[in-house]
Amino acid sequence: MRSSSNNKRDYYEILGVAKGATPEEIKKAYRKLAVKYHPDKNPGDKTAEDKFKELGEAYEVLSDENKRAAYDRYGHAAFSQGGGMGGAGMGGQDPFEIFREVFGSGGGGIFGSIFEEAFGGGERSQGRGADLRYDMQITFEEAARGCEKEISVTKMETCDACSGSGAAPGSSVKTCATCRGAGQVYVTRGFFSVAQACPRCHGAGQTIEKPCPTCSGAGRFEKASKIKIRIPAGIEDGSRLRSTGQGEGGHRGGPAGDLYIVIHVLPHDIFVREGNDLYCEVPISFAKAALGGEIKVPTLEGQALVKIPAGTASGKIFRLKQRGITALNGRGIGDLHVKVYVEVPTKLTPEQRAKLQAFADSCNEETHPEEQSFFRKAKEFFR
Ligand SMILES: [Zn+2]
Ligand SMILES: [Zn+2]
Repeated sequence: MRSSSNNKRDYYEILGVAKGATPEEIKKAYRKLAVKYHPDKNPGDKTAEDKFKELGEAYEVLSDENKRAAYDRYGHAAFSQGGGMGGAGMGGQDPFEIFREVFGSGGGGIFGSIFEEAFGGGERSQGRGADLRYDMQITFEEAARGCEKEISVTKMETCDACSGSGAAPGSSVKTCATCRGAGQVYVTRGFFSVAQACPRCHGAGQTIEKPCPTCSGAGRFEKASKIKIRIPAGIEDGSRLRSTGQGEGGHRGGPAGDLYIVIHVLPHDIFVREGNDLYCEVPISFAKAALGGEIKVPTLEGQALVKIPAGTASGKIFRLKQRGITALNGRGIGDLHVKVYVEVPTKLTPEQRAKLQAFADSCNEETHPEEQSFFRKAKEFFR
């Protein structure tokens, strides 16, 4: 089978290892070359960038037992579209994962800060738990009045049995002898000294004598918990509430992260909100607009009566003071703006039609001054 994938370089060749290389040798070779060709070390160098990508691809396949077996058997065809195993694209294993392991403990080494930024902090062996985001949908009324909600979140929680230390109760946690508690060791690479996570304690700085039976020594475990959230009155769509300490539990006794609740307010059938003011449109009959009267308008707290003066124009806005939304800080209440529009009657009975026609025939400059003056102007314009 000839395909474009045939001009791809051999994965073993890319990593510079023999066909029979052990997983350890592959990992080591990848680390070495990835550090050399990393884009942060070779800014703007296209060749290095391509090499780095090629490395990631080769490592992704050769570090996975199944993918490696398929590659050994079918070559690149194993991963091309329609080939042996079907398109096993990138993304199964994160090629950057290994970097987190090497540089993730941060600080110290020359790469510390660069890689922290490039890889979003990485998984630390010790420290603060991750922040979590929860998207919550609430109704318009709930946002206006405030409410209390209970949510279920499954997250990593600090193990109570060992207080997050990972050590079985009664057993001790010892300072790691290899890194003397620093969690990282320095390895010389050419002219540089690079910080690496300590191979013995994996960056924790401590070793555990006997792992905690509840969390198997991890110090944390996944747990579903119910959290009560108070939504303050006046909250706006897109607001973010922070629930301090309700994120994931810290690593090895570190502080917990925070939980962010992003509020999505459902639109209302009648009201549109702008700041703390509310807007709504109310239809009125042609007769009511002409004769005047009262209309009932909805508000957040039931109904309100609005007086319509005789001769009210379509589109007129009536402002109902303090019938809007209570400000989030509790200071002040918005207004409700009611815009009336005249509903033109349809499906008239013959009798209604006759009456309306009689009315129309009686109209003049007194009853419709704007109409009369407009057509007078238009007539002059066309002359
Ligand atoms: Zn535990
Ligand atoms: Zn150590």
